[in-house]
Amino acid sequence: MAGRTAPAPAGLGVAGGAHVTVRLIATGGTISSHHDGRGWTELAGSELVAELVDDLDRAGVDVEVVDVAAGPSSHLSVDDMSAIAGHVRDAVADGHGVVVTHGTDTIELTSFLADLLLPAAADRPPVVFTGSMRVHSHPQPDGPRNLLDALVVAGDRAARGCGVLVCVDGLLHAAARVVKCDAGSLDAFSSAPLGPVGTVQGGTVIVHDDAPLAGPHATDLAPDVPLLTVYPGIDPSQVARTLDGRRGAVLEVFGDLNVPRTLWAPIHEAWRAGTLVVLASRPFTGTTRSEGLDLLGAVGAGGLTAQKARLATMAALGGGAGRDDAIEFLHARRLVRPHDERSST
Ligand code: ASP
Repeated sequence: MAGRTAPAPAGLGVAGGAHVTVRLIATGGTISSHHDGRGWTELAGSELVAELVDDLDRAGVDVEVVDVAAGPSSHLSVDDMSAIAGHVRDAVADGHGVVVTHGTDTIELTSFLADLLLPAAADRPPVVFTGSMRVHSHPQPDGPRNLLDALVVAGDRAARGCGVLVCVDGLLHAAARVVKCDAGSLDAFSSAPLGPVGTVQGGTVIVHDDAPLAGPHATDLAPDVPLLTVYPGIDPSQVARTLDGRRGAVLEVFGDLNVPRTLWAPIHEAWRAGTLVVLASRPFTGTTRSEGLDLLGAVGAGGLTAQKARLATMAALGGGAGRDDAIEFLHARRLVRPHDERSST
């Protein structure tokens, strides 16, 4: 996996220290929530940027702002997330680095969807999502620092060509890897077992050598891909009904993609009927294809969480893609441990 370690001075996106322009796409979330003593208000992106103006000037970053959504990110539909990804695509097409402020509940999903929908290019401007765990009116808010960090990363050459990033608490995570793992801590995000792809500290951006580059992208999403979590003793007919007549479906199963024997028949039948059955698991397992999965009639989600696997399956089947092409897409999108890469196919 190619990558780069580039402890470039912050903001030097243009030779000679000229300012770079970053587009901020504001979509609500805790980072913009403010209690003014009488009630809750939501701050516009321009208000969040206004308080960073001196730091941004020192870092050489100019910011243009578009407010596109408001409120908690748990309310966003896939269509809403696609619309945000569309704004990101427009900004990148205009040649800008991009920051998206977003609620932390679903930041890992919208950022991943943007990753799936954005065309890759070696010098693609950075796309960086950020949010905060504390509201803006908290005595020690984490939002301003996260936003400043994200804007600096978005203006920095070191992050060009990377997949979409999530910047929180001084860490840069790949959107494909990151999950919110603690709803009550500043240190709420993890990319375990693979780890973050870089850091931003005091304006210095470091992107590790093994940071994933932008991957193959989809132009469209297939609708109607259900996700079902398998639990001990689940009724096989419930699984059969979920899979029936679908182009694709995701089942969250156990361990290394282990499936209760009662579900082997409904999965096999759905596969024979043409459904792309994708198995995800809570513990990390990077498998997409294996002899056992071939026999069952399913593919693995390649280490994606079940929620991300659903989005990836919608992308894989988008534009009417056939199942074999969709499997190739999922395989190309699998998460790879750096030391596994040479042995993977
Ligand atoms: N409820 C919030 C949201 O996701 C949480 C946050 O932003 O941190 O919109």
